[in-house]
Amino acid sequence: MENSSNFIRSIMKEDLEAGKHDKIVTRFPPEPNGYLHIGHAKSIVINFGLADDFNGLTNLRFDDTNPLKEDQEYVDAIKEDVKWLGYDWDELRFASDYFEVMYEKAVLLIKKGKAYVDDLTAEQIREYRGTLTEPGKESPYRNRSVEENLELFERMRNGEFANGEKVLRAKIDMSSPNINLRDPVIYRISHATHHNTGDKWCIYPMYAFAHPLEDAIEDVTHSLCTVEFEDQRPFYDWVIAECETESKPRQIEFGRLNVENAVTSKRKLKQLVDEKFVDGWDDPRMPTISGLRRRGFTPEAIREFVKATGVSKGSGVVDSAMVEHFVREDLKLKAPRTMGILRPLKVVITNYPEDQVEMLDAENNPENEEMGVRQIPFSREIYIEQDDFMEDPPKKYFRLFPGNEVRLKHAYFIKCEDVIKDENGNVVEIHCTYDPETKSGTGFTGRKVKGTLHWVDAKHAVPAEFRLYEPLILDNEEEAADGEEKTFLDNINPNSLEIVQGFVEPNMKDVKPQEKFQFFRHGYFNVDPKYTTPEKPVFNLIVSLKSSFKL
Ligand code: ATP
Ligand code: MG
Repeated sequence: MENSSNFIRSIMKEDLEAGKHDKIVTRFPPEPNGYLHIGHAKSIVINFGLADDFNGLTNLRFDDTNPLKEDQEYVDAIKEDVKWLGYDWDELRFASDYFEVMYEKAVLLIKKGKAYVDDLTAEQIREYRGTLTEPGKESPYRNRSVEENLELFERMRNGEFANGEKVLRAKIDMSSPNINLRDPVIYRISHATHHNTGDKWCIYPMYAFAHPLEDAIEDVTHSLCTVEFEDQRPFYDWVIAECETESKPRQIEFGRLNVENAVTSKRKLKQLVDEKFVDGWDDPRMPTISGLRRRGFTPEAIREFVKATGVSKGSGVVDSAMVEHFVREDLKLKAPRTMGILRPLKVVITNYPEDQVEMLDAENNPENEEMGVRQIPFSREIYIEQDDFMEDPPKKYFRLFPGNEVRLKHAYFIKCEDVIKDENGNVVEIHCTYDPETKSGTGFTGRKVKGTLHWVDAKHAVPAEFRLYEPLILDNEEEAADGEEKTFLDNINPNSLEIVQGFVEPNMKDVKPQEKFQFFRHGYFNVDPKYTTPEKPVFNLIVSLKSSFKL
């Protein structure tokens, strides 16, 4: 987190100075029930970054206590994403490796009279729980003897009961103003195969009970989580105290990161994938780390963005232009500039010799000379962008129109002499003349033109596909009509992906997946790793060149 100050950093510093810990230990604890998204990047940067600042340690811990939703695919993807973001964990841990310890802690609670087996159904438990204004009601099974509880809990473990037939609950206070302390369920029965422990267990600890124990087992000093867990902190502390763990982790909450237009709920992201609204978890429109990677965002840009959002208790919504700002900043000096035509219009230079081809020098990045110069062919036929020509232009249109002269980037001035149309009146070809005196780099100062167009040589250009993106979900505050259920799926943008077929410079023939370029006047693009073939590169638009963001 560099040296920026934030309240968590201050707490850690005080705790170290007070001699509470020898070193800071944090963990990033994803549940492997989906892919990581931009919100998780915040938690990753905070956990790894802060521990790093104090030369501490960070574990990657899979919080895998719910076998029904978890999968090895997610475990693998999460590891890859954390590494790609530039972080290396100290230890790789799985909550499921601690099931035996957790079971023993539950037995300890029973022995202390702090937990009991309840036969109420889930629905009854909910009814008995009370509300914010009314206290809860005690379960008729609350006062079972320690012996009976021990026996029943063991029989739960042994698989003698069906799902939902019994639960283990902490015995705290049914009239606590904090509902989380009204005898929360700590173990449930689930006859399900676990991705890690297989069929060894049929009872699983609840998250709120498991999490503090996981932290204590790993000697985590500061357990950082998002603000919605604030009300859980008293129970977190109760578990740590009553389970008599040696290590005493401390929970601290920080505000979630929400990005405008970005879905940051794994459940919703999974729905987009399962219902095929997108091309998988790594669809470039997804705010997942793998989607951002395939889109062309860099780890540096994501890290800098997250750091710039700061660490506080509040959870605001961040403008998506802010994310884009950081990727432009990062790519400005790194990405070679090149020319690509997204919607081609042929231009014939009628006074250029038929069979001649010349090689022109083009700098790879005017802002970074070290990137050198490439050579691009120029001959009688080229492609320009369709919207760089207008037959009947408005005032202040400085690009190509009949009688007008423009500069071709890295090449010559050309003048529009004639417009060729098909039988329907569509413009199919432009005829121009060029002036050999105006070659770029020769210092020609005879006259000036106002427009500069990008182009590619028609004979040598490489066909390429461009994938242009808009937000997947539109902001739409519109209320649902009466009796109608409106979901985020109703706000899906039908134009979130546009695919166009164009051309790129011949030296782009062998581009590699994930290489990034700035196409002159269009924006930054990434070579798509999924659809690119040896015959045809596919480019994902990362961001356009224009920015509306002010830091
Ligand atoms: P769910 O628990 O509903 O599946 P989750 O987003 O909380 O979703 P976890 O795998 O539990 O997913 O998250 C791992 C860590 O990332 C948690 O500590 C969580 O608080 C943190 N986290 C998740 N979303 C955000 C967010 N938008 N901003 C900051 N931190 C987040
Ligand atoms: Mg969670």
